[in-house]
Amino acid sequence: MSNAERAFRFAIERLNAQNYFNGTTLVPDARHVANNDIFNATKTVCRQLSKGVAAIFGPASQESATAVGSVCRTMEIPFVETRWEHEPRDSLKTSINLHPSNKHISMVIKDIVFYYHWTTITIVYEEDAALTRLQEVLHASAEPMKIKVTVYRIPSRPDMRDLLKEIKTSGARHIIIDCRSETLYPLLEQIMEMQMLRSYYHYLFTSMDVALLNMSRYNGDGVNITAVHLHDRESAQFHRVAVEWRARFRGTDAHPMDKGLTTEASLVIDAVNVMAQALTMGIGRNMTLQRLSCFDKRPHSPSVWDYGLSFFNYLKSVNLKNGLTGDVNFSAFGERENPTIFISELTDTNGLEQRGFWNTSRQLYMKPRDETIITDPSSFINRTLIVTTIREQPYVMFRETKDGVPVTGNARYYGYCIDMLQKISERLHFNYQIVEVEDDNYGSKLESGRWNGMVGELIERKADLAVAPLTITYSREQVMDFSKPYMHLGITILYRSPEPQNPGVFSFLNPLSFDVWLYVVLAFFLVSITLFLLARFSPYEWYNSHPCNPEYDEVENQFNLTNCLWFSFGGLMQQGSEVNPRAFSTRVLSGFWWFFSLILVSSYTANLAAFLTVERMVSPISSADDLSKQTEIEYGTRSGGSTETFFSRSKIPTYQTMYEFMSARPHVFSKTYDAGIERVLNSKNYAFLLESTTAEYRISQHCNNLTLIGGLLNSRGYGIGTPLGSALRDEVTKAILSLQEDDTLLKLKQKWWKTSNCQSSLNQKEDANELGVKNIGGIFLVLITGLLAGVMAAVAEFVWKSRQNATLDSKSLCGEMMAELRFACRCNKRRNSKPVIEHKYIPTTPYPAPGMNGQAIQMAETVA
Ligand code: ASP
Repeated sequence: MSNAERAFRFAIERLNAQNYFNGTTLVPDARHVANNDIFNATKTVCRQLSKGVAAIFGPASQESATAVGSVCRTMEIPFVETRWEHEPRDSLKTSINLHPSNKHISMVIKDIVFYYHWTTITIVYEEDAALTRLQEVLHASAEPMKIKVTVYRIPSRPDMRDLLKEIKTSGARHIIIDCRSETLYPLLEQIMEMQMLRSYYHYLFTSMDVALLNMSRYNGDGVNITAVHLHDRESAQFHRVAVEWRARFRGTDAHPMDKGLTTEASLVIDAVNVMAQALTMGIGRNMTLQRLSCFDKRPHSPSVWDYGLSFFNYLKSVNLKNGLTGDVNFSAFGERENPTIFISELTDTNGLEQRGFWNTSRQLYMKPRDETIITDPSSFINRTLIVTTIREQPYVMFRETKDGVPVTGNARYYGYCIDMLQKISERLHFNYQIVEVEDDNYGSKLESGRWNGMVGELIERKADLAVAPLTITYSREQVMDFSKPYMHLGITILYRSPEPQNPGVFSFLNPLSFDVWLYVVLAFFLVSITLFLLARFSPYEWYNSHPCNPEYDEVENQFNLTNCLWFSFGGLMQQGSEVNPRAFSTRVLSGFWWFFSLILVSSYTANLAAFLTVERMVSPISSADDLSKQTEIEYGTRSGGSTETFFSRSKIPTYQTMYEFMSARPHVFSKTYDAGIERVLNSKNYAFLLESTTAEYRISQHCNNLTLIGGLLNSRGYGIGTPLGSALRDEVTKAILSLQEDDTLLKLKQKWWKTSNCQSSLNQKEDANELGVKNIGGIFLVLITGLLAGVMAAVAEFVWKSRQNATLDSKSLCGEMMAELRFACRCNKRRNSKPVIEHKYIPTTPYPAPGMNGQAIQMAETVA
């Protein structure tokens, strides 16, 4: 007995047992027809019609069903189908079909694929008709989502290992399997044999009977299995009928697919119940059956059932609540309307568990997987946790072989984070399986509100832990949990090391800044002129140029303008000159000038030495501010990470400008750190913004070619991620703190950051800088003090001498001073000599001896 027949009889027996029609009983008449044997099917149905029937329940094969359907249409006998229908329905059909249409099933599969964010899919199908069930997914490959689809066909022979091997080596991860119920068991067994039931794989079975198998047999290695089915496995009605079914058919057949309450059996039971409900409606209760003959063409023999069309309309209007396959009702075309398709996932402990459903009004609904979160701190002990990560030097690196031997599984990964994960797992006693993040992203919120990268995988519970250089940020913390940071860092700018500069023929000017050179020249002229003026006003600067002749009537001043310039120059060059100051005021000024020269020359010499020994490296940028103010050097970050998010959300004007620059040039973003660093190395005009710890490591690998610019733009930390609410977070935090306290993390840092070819060029950087006013401005102040002191001394000398002379000459001080002033300011051809003014008493040097007073005064007056 086939399962469909078993279900047919079972449903009718149940109705009769319940006395559903108050004394009227239903009589089943079941016949077998060979698949695709149209002739036999037609003959069989005609034989049944000749007995008088209320409805025909259709065969499963398409050809037989078409033949039976056309007979039923001719005789106006309602035809009830429960098969997967490939061809489109038309209004002429006098049949109803309880099986959901292809359109609905392919929409469910597409929605599930989108729900899991699969971007590469492998489809394994058995019958050509499957492709119509999967048409929405196949179309999705052309949609903007660009899903990559690979299709394999299951061979007709029972051994499917070759096919599975091919799929395994292709690296397929998301596999949709569409096969007949009978193929499911051998296929799953062979998948297990090929070790393809690991957590790396996710299977989606479209065959609705997967749930009948003992699926807990296959969950050992954490494989993901999703199944769609029509049974509402959580409904009380389903359980009641299933219990009755088991009691009735226990031990009938060997295989669960043959004896279980399959989808086909459930649809047949629902179909019988639909018919029963129609029979209780309107004329249904008073109908009489007619014997109809397909071949009798005599005039009075009935060719159609009188009640046929009315009964068919009642059938279409039935609304069966809580059927085994959900609520059942039909469209005008007799097609199942708004069917509910249920979705189950394989769990660690309970086999397949219902997680969601799909219907046309609500589309896909999946319950949040809270129950999968580890809430009990001890529940992960000895469990194999899925750890999502991303390849990033030196945190997580990948190798195919170790010491020449090919490696597999976790052994393929090494680096700082892998060592740390190992230490944490040892402390917390869990096993782990490393699975690289699918889309190569750390995690950022997309416009759709969804998160991608490792953050997305934690949200979707695809992973229990994210162990990677994953930055703790506020927005991420809203959707996932972070442990305490295991490393602290900040964003920095990575740029190509500047090329050594050609010193140039005027490089001797470099030790002093331009300002200083300018001020030195100004000081030189100022001092020379002041010296000239002081020498003219100071009476002590005038002397008898013929000392052997005390009678000589002229005094001379050696500080003419040229001599002043020469004297200052000689002092500056530390060479001296034959001109020497005599008065106190000029000596004060000279002293300060010499002091100034001494300091200036010493500073220049010292800095010149530094300039000659250090290669000048000048970078066109020295900070983020510099970057933001120019457009010649492009800069960017890694896309899809917290660095990009930092700039996009920053309220600091410099960073806002930088983000505007970057977002206007999408090509400046790199998909990976490797790509960004490669670009810095190969381009003169590109700076990469990245996290300092990664930058330090990369600089140590390319110390001659890469350098850091400026300091850190912010401060942040890396943490280990867990799904929101997971008890793992606190345990991991404790483990990290203890690893920090016993210096394990420090040693790991030294281990992985030490493998450099050179020291970080950050620390190496020695440079000689020109001396500016801020470095040696003090000596200019000293010089100005000297100038003022010299002037004051000159005034004092002038007043002092005038006072002396005024006493000698019995003149007023003012008069004497005016006379002296006039004399000092006098301009003639011989500005540097003047006639002696005779005073009453013997004057001291530089005035000559008395004797020619009247004449001298006379001359002086003549000259004046
Ligand atoms: N570590 C960063 C993150 O977690 C990557 C980046 O620089 O954006 O997103």
